[in-house]
Amino acid sequence: MKPLTHTEPLHFECETGNYHTFCPISCVAWLYQKIEDSFFLVVGTKTCGYFLQNALGVMIFAEPRYAMAELEEGDISAQLNDYQELRRLCSQIKKDRNPSVIVWIGTCTTEIIKMDLEGMAPRLEMELGIPIVVARANGLDYAFTQGEDTVLAAMAHRCPDSGRAKQQSRTHIDENDSLSSRGLRSLLSFPVPSTTEQTAHPPLVLFGSLPATVAAQLGLELKRQGIQVSGWLPAQRYAELPSLGEGVHVCGVNPFLSRTATTLMRRRKCKLIGAPFPIGPDGTRAWIEKICAVFGIQPKGLQEREEQVWKGLEGYLRLVRGKSVFFMGDNLLEVSLARFLVRCGMVVYEIGIPYMDKRYQAAELALLQSTCQEMGVPFPRIVEKPDNYHQVQRIRELHPDLAITGMAHANPLEARGISTKWSVEFTFAQIHGFTNARDILELVTRPLRRNHSLQELGWVQLVQSPV
Ligand code: SF4
Repeated sequence: MKPLTHTEPLHFECETGNYHTFCPISCVAWLYQKIEDSFFLVVGTKTCGYFLQNALGVMIFAEPRYAMAELEEGDISAQLNDYQELRRLCSQIKKDRNPSVIVWIGTCTTEIIKMDLEGMAPRLEMELGIPIVVARANGLDYAFTQGEDTVLAAMAHRCPDSGRAKQQSRTHIDENDSLSSRGLRSLLSFPVPSTTEQTAHPPLVLFGSLPATVAAQLGLELKRQGIQVSGWLPAQRYAELPSLGEGVHVCGVNPFLSRTATTLMRRRKCKLIGAPFPIGPDGTRAWIEKICAVFGIQPKGLQEREEQVWKGLEGYLRLVRGKSVFFMGDNLLEVSLARFLVRCGMVVYEIGIPYMDKRYQAAELALLQSTCQEMGVPFPRIVEKPDNYHQVQRIRELHPDLAITGMAHANPLEARGISTKWSVEFTFAQIHGFTNARDILELVTRPLRRNHSLQELGWVQLVQSPV
């Protein structure tokens, strides 16, 4: 292995892609909760059904607003009519749940048999009078959180046009205008500003699905700087999707939304603010500062706010300082989490990541680099499409204090004396913004605290072959 340094530029590698991760169709679990009036229909096989049923745990007993359209032999050999089958299911969904939008999630099977979901959706949409959005969140092309990326990229096409929305709101104002004020305005000859024009900066739309409380916290942080968020993609309800178009600035809150970012820039002509992600107090500050810089606003009190949060984390920091961590990589949050942990005083040996969009993550990678330099630790090795077998060999060699990994490797590594943290928890926990940094460290330190207590019992390695 090449020795790690902190003088050379970041080092990227690419392995075989033989790694464990969740299938991207799992995004229905959090998206159906976020978009309250939606229904997700996963068009796939029993394999997909088994995965959803097991991965989403107790959620399946809560009558969730997602379902499987399970393909049979007749569908696959084209003896049944796809359109009629989907029409039957969607009519039933409309009757039983009456959602504002149905999202079809394409799977590996629909890709392989080339089912024309995009072709059928507009026809059925007309027939049923309900929007149908198609997202190909399949395991052939994507990993885990990228499922959300495909859904949001598809929804970006359904957002109203900001130019048209502005014009409509103007017509509305004009229609409702009293004669006297209209006369007065024509005398003074200035237009009534719409809500977006009233703020001193261009409209800002944030993208990425976050729980309502976390989204509100981030909105509040920006408000403190005099920045108004004009909308979120996705919104709480489908009908409230934000207006997009030329002049609208967009900024992501999660590192796995590169397709959505591209769609917003290329298809909706929005301006992307490339910032590090608001994970950890350092990331949150950098995120706000970047938005302020783009709008020409001088940030106020951010440094003090960040220092105050770090002070509150001291108890956790004492536990992690000087410890080493190895990310096997499965959810694309790895770079942001690693950057935060380096700032906490940890040494990151390796960042495994399923897919690396160096352009979308440019600001985050730059922050990782400067953080490593400031903290005087070597740059981590960044391994795209990792090979889990090789990674286990490297873990054997490096013996990190903590491995962040999936369920498949967690227990086997634990049994060999390596502390692990289940990576999926970072996806479902609230990790964004200043106040939630504590939650990240709560997760990271849990195995360290537990092992500390167990060490006294002398049960560290429970199998014969050590790592
Ligand atoms: S990887 Fe493909 S077949 Fe497996 S659950 Fe995901 S979509 Fe279904």
